[in-house]
Amino acid sequence: MSTDQTHLTDFVQIRHAQKAFGQLEVLKDISLNVARGQIVAIIGPSGSGKSTLLRAINDLDPLTGGEIWLDGTQVNKSLPHRQYEKHINQMRQEIGMVFQHFNLFPHMTARENVTMAPKMLKGLSNEAADALAEEQLQKVGMLERIDYYPSQLSGGQKQRVAIARALAMKPKLMLFDEATSALDPELVDEVNQVMKKLAEEQMTMIIVTHEMDFAAAVCDRVLFMDQGVVVEEGPPEVIFKRPEKERTRAFLRKHL
Ligand code: ADP
Ligand code: MG
Repeated sequence: MSTDQTHLTDFVQIRHAQKAFGQLEVLKDISLNVARGQIVAIIGPSGSGKSTLLRAINDLDPLTGGEIWLDGTQVNKSLPHRQYEKHINQMRQEIGMVFQHFNLFPHMTARENVTMAPKMLKGLSNEAADALAEEQLQKVGMLERIDYYPSQLSGGQKQRVAIARALAMKPKLMLFDEATSALDPELVDEVNQVMKKLAEEQMTMIIVTHEMDFAAAVCDRVLFMDQGVVVEEGPPEVIFKRPEKERTRAFLRKHL
């Protein structure tokens, strides 16, 4: 694997990310470094490119320019097809992703949702996979529902199972794309609590969110994106209390 000395301090590096869908430039030269254990919030209006950026990190939406690095390895490497498949599957095991709409497998119980990837990709035995499912579901407070199907769970419970499923692969990085936006307000907090706990455990996370209070409480840095660029970034107390740019202020007036 290729490594590069400059990547040793920055666990995640997005270097000059550019993405176009045809003529539409969605990401315009975005760079971001995240240290190990750091938590970064990305905020910004709808359509500003937040989801595209997150999806670019594990190459689900390949960039049209720029590089993504994780822990010394380039994620979006240009390789012959078979080698690329092997490489990207490996990288994706190290990057957990949680979306707005749970994406649990509906025909599988919570346990089966959590154990499927570790069994298939890491060859875990049934016993080891069960122990792992119990451990991860315990962590998100869902052990009691281990044999329930998604249809028997609330939105908040489904999202907690989705987090447990991502954690079961022992990722180096967790990406959250509006993980609580689809939830009824009274269910938001149980999911936020799980994310807070991960933060306390020094999980490296990039979190796209509309919840400014949560971002302020949990994140080390906040990035404000608009129209494919990072308008402003800094610690939450600066971005939320005394942002420099008028675009940031205008956005926050509507959302705080
Ligand atoms: P956000 O998550 O900030 O709301 P997105 O990253 O979803 O923004 O979208 C940014 C822009 O890219 C939007 O204008 C959206 O319509 C466009 N876009 C996203 N995905 C695609 C796609 N697969 N094809 C064409 N345009 C897309
Ligand atoms: Mg989005």
